[in-house]
Amino acid sequence: MQIITSPSEMQREAIRWRGKGKKIALVPTMGALHVGHLSLIKRVRASADVVVMSIYVNPTQFGPKEDFSRYPRPRARDLQLARDAGVDCVFAPRELYREDHSTFVEETELSQGRCGPFRPGHFRGVATVVLKLFNLVQPQVAVFGQKDAQQCDVIERMVRDLNVPVKIVRAPLLRDKNGLALSSRNAYLSPEEYQVALELPKALKRAVDRKKLSPKVRRQLAWNELQEKKDLKVEYVEFCPPFLCAAVRVGKTRLIDNVRLGQ
Ligand code: AMP
Repeated sequence: MQIITSPSEMQREAIRWRGKGKKIALVPTMGALHVGHLSLIKRVRASADVVVMSIYVNPTQFGPKEDFSRYPRPRARDLQLARDAGVDCVFAPRELYREDHSTFVEETELSQGRCGPFRPGHFRGVATVVLKLFNLVQPQVAVFGQKDAQQCDVIERMVRDLNVPVKIVRAPLLRDKNGLALSSRNAYLSPEEYQVALELPKALKRAVDRKKLSPKVRRQLAWNELQEKKDLKVEYVEFCPPFLCAAVRVGKTRLIDNVRLGQ
């Protein structure tokens, strides 16, 4: 497995692959890899000649009070997992922004609801780094997880609006054995907090099961149920057809999740 840290070297290598007619798939991540990330690799492995996984904790998508500096960075473990999963090249730049970086990509509609008000500037940072990664890695295909449903929406819209020649694949959300959506941030949870966090997927699952009620009522019931939980702070429960999306805080940890409602 190739490991590239220099952005210019990454771009040179990608142009070389393209010149040889290779199909490049990109799996963008912030590292601290788990089974959810590995499922993205599986999703594109068979159809691509070169699978590139980027590992970069992107500073522009974190707010000033968020967890950028304490975000887990288990680099050696990540490289081993990527190698075992069949990644051909890890692109792990130390830095992607110059000190006087002043150009950003902003999606102005789909980034507004859900996480938008709670994470000002987040989707601007995401869209900007994803476009930079597309320009450096030159993929024909890039895969993103449904875990971050709003992120998928924003990136699909950016690609459409700016005529970016990359096919976006949306991979299913993976959960742990107790139903919690896999996330690098789950590592922050104490055993007690983990038990509280399980209330989020449980409430969403009940909403899925209430098939006879309207999405509006199911959303309200999920909101009510989560509000009643001690040690859990609800940020939002929003129906974005066909998905019921939610974010909560458990202690200092922010968790997001979503389910597809039946109608
Ligand atoms: P992150 O490293 O958290 O930025 O995530 C990198 C990619 O993995 C994003 O496209 C995420 O949506 C995806 N991802 C993270 N967690 C999961 C999960 N539980 N299931 C599926 N995809 C995931």
